[in-house]
Amino acid sequence: MLVEEKDILKDRLKEIFGYSQFRGNQERIIRNLLDGKNTFVIMPTGAGKSLCYQLPAMINDGLAIVISPLIALMKNQVDQMNAYGVNARFMNSTLSKGEITRLKKDCMNGIVKLLYVAPESLNKEETIDFLKKVNVSFVAIDEAHCISEWGHDFRPEYRRIKSMIQILGNMPVIALTATATPKVQLDIQKNLQMEDADVFMSSFNRKNLYYEVRPKKETKKQLIKFLKDNKGKSGIVYCLSRKKVEEIAQLLNVNGFKAAPYHAGLDPDVRMKNQDDFLNEETDIIVATIAFGMGIDKPDVRFVVHYDVPKSLEGYYQETGRSGRDGLEGHCLMFYSHNDLSKLEKFNKDKPVQERENSRILLQEMEYYAESPVCRRRQLLHYFGEEFTEENCGMCDNCVHPRERFEGSDYVHLVLQTVKKTNQRFTLSHLVNVIRGVEDEYVKSYGHFDLDVYGKGSNEDQDFWKSVIRQTLIYQFLEKDIDNIGALRLTSRGEAFLKNPESIELARDHDFTTEIEEEEESAERVPTNTKSYDVKLFEMLKTLRKKIAKEKNLPPYVIFQDPSLEEMATTYPTTKDEMAQVNGVGMGKVNKFGKEFLEVIERYVEENDIETASDVVVKSSVNKSKTKIAIIQQIDRKVDLEEIAETTRLSFEELLTEIENICYSGTKLNLNYYIDQVLDPHKQDDIHDYFMRSESDSLEHALKDDSIADYSEEEIRLMRIKFMSEYAN
Ligand code: ADP
Ligand code: ZN
Repeated sequence: MLVEEKDILKDRLKEIFGYSQFRGNQERIIRNLLDGKNTFVIMPTGAGKSLCYQLPAMINDGLAIVISPLIALMKNQVDQMNAYGVNARFMNSTLSKGEITRLKKDCMNGIVKLLYVAPESLNKEETIDFLKKVNVSFVAIDEAHCISEWGHDFRPEYRRIKSMIQILGNMPVIALTATATPKVQLDIQKNLQMEDADVFMSSFNRKNLYYEVRPKKETKKQLIKFLKDNKGKSGIVYCLSRKKVEEIAQLLNVNGFKAAPYHAGLDPDVRMKNQDDFLNEETDIIVATIAFGMGIDKPDVRFVVHYDVPKSLEGYYQETGRSGRDGLEGHCLMFYSHNDLSKLEKFNKDKPVQERENSRILLQEMEYYAESPVCRRRQLLHYFGEEFTEENCGMCDNCVHPRERFEGSDYVHLVLQTVKKTNQRFTLSHLVNVIRGVEDEYVKSYGHFDLDVYGKGSNEDQDFWKSVIRQTLIYQFLEKDIDNIGALRLTSRGEAFLKNPESIELARDHDFTTEIEEEEESAERVPTNTKSYDVKLFEMLKTLRKKIAKEKNLPPYVIFQDPSLEEMATTYPTTKDEMAQVNGVGMGKVNKFGKEFLEVIERYVEENDIETASDVVVKSSVNKSKTKIAIIQQIDRKVDLEEIAETTRLSFEELLTEIENICYSGTKLNLNYYIDQVLDPHKQDDIHDYFMRSESDSLEHALKDDSIADYSEEEIRLMRIKFMSEYAN
């Protein structure tokens, strides 16, 4: 029976949204909600939260209510739902009396499946009276972090949601958020009285985002160069002040970029137009204060630049999270300087003491992040309570250009000893003072100069020790006390290390005063994706999409998203059925928008004499060509082969065979990201040399050759693919 239900969910997913697979926790979340249970979802931006309530809304009888903070977001989502043929509507202050009356009627008649409501509207008595008469299936609370006072985006009206829901009766609640440190999470659950809820926490790892921090020197020049390298792509440049926004937007326009400013000080019409132009691809770059972005659901933002240092890592993570929502490339570049930090501190000086202290701690985390030599991904995940254990993520500046390393065992040991001997009750700066033998007030009053660790690390300076302790935290030998901000204590891993120290590699912090030259040229060495789809057709489809979007007055991605267009430019569908097979499409969309796309593809295929999907189908089954595409797309995104094997339900061996087929049929595949993980450079050279010399690419011959006798079949096959891709394709 379980299996059957699963298939129904999948069928509906395909039928309505055109997706053939759930992502991450989606299916478990949806089942939990359909079982009538309270559900708490923590999932990073772009991972697919909306689907977790949109699909159940379609399956359940009655009307699902979605509480969502921003009007822009509501309209956006309603447009998208309507494009899928789902009857979704919104209720907020922009509607006229007549529109509200009609909306209410439709809800009561059961025509509407999803109703987006602003919290302000929900707080009105007439809204509640009306909703009491409707059959409500469940309530979804989007952007649930707005409930928490500890969060960076607190909205008082959110704190009253629970009492409103209670008036409506007893129904399941699903709360969703993309940022929540463990503390904020607890606060949300308490306020919604859903401590009993099932919590679904997804990984915060956004694998397709590249994180980079550069010193803020000659920033304008650096920015222009970066944008030139990314010409024609969609992106956001965040600045701290309105003035800066205006200045940079102008600078970009003068330099030939299509850029527009966005900030709260602009005339609402202008602001709206600039935002729409960005969504509609009339403008490539939006230069904005952080007022921009909440609720902007543009999936193909290719870069996010922080021209100024953000106020918190939560903010930074949210803002960078707006890039690459479609799973493709997203470059996150921050310009960093101490000066920015001091500026931000000054802004805080008029705040009440507690708030000022909170802000100061957030800024300090920002500073650690920027200057740290540790993998950016690892640090961000650590901040959100998740451990990332890969040695090298390959997608951040610290991993691609590693800092100088040194053996850190003795240093870590001294730190842990000091924590233990001061009874695990002190903050980082006090520990540094004890280690370095600096006799300040605290050291005196606690008598810490009597400890045998006192002054043992006096040879190194303060910054060095701070860096060591922060790395000790990130590697989880120490942890911060959640109730007692700043106090460090040993984890079990730390205890084990104290008894049995082992070798550990540490790295030197960035020094943001001296390394400008070195960092500047690094821009060119960022890994870029090689394209495996038909770029020309893709561009044509994009142009068509833009035209249709304009006619229908919709953002382009509502029609088809980039990954769908890429797939079309890989499989060349020429019939409605073939097009409905494309991920993210589905028959509803084909009927709505498909016709002109099919025409363009058909003409293109004819003019260029291309083998189409239907030709391919003759040779292999539909499923097989689907698998191929899935493999190509995932390799493009640098997904590990083990993971691809899993998602395509192939054994590793079968996957290699598929990849070989793809490669031998002329598609260039770049497997370097994977091969570099599993094969030393010198091993790669050995096999490469063999194929260079060898008469044929026969595996049989290769396995018998003495010069590479030590290598496994798998290794040889991987290198053969690399070799073929580089030379033959
Ligand atoms: P979030 O609200 O978590 O930021 P969204 O709900 O906007 O993310 O989803 C991000 C993108 O992922 C959207 O473009 C959406 O269409 C797409 N998406 C969601 N679920 C799936 C799925 N199961 N398969 C493929 N794409 C999906
Ligand atoms: Zn990294």
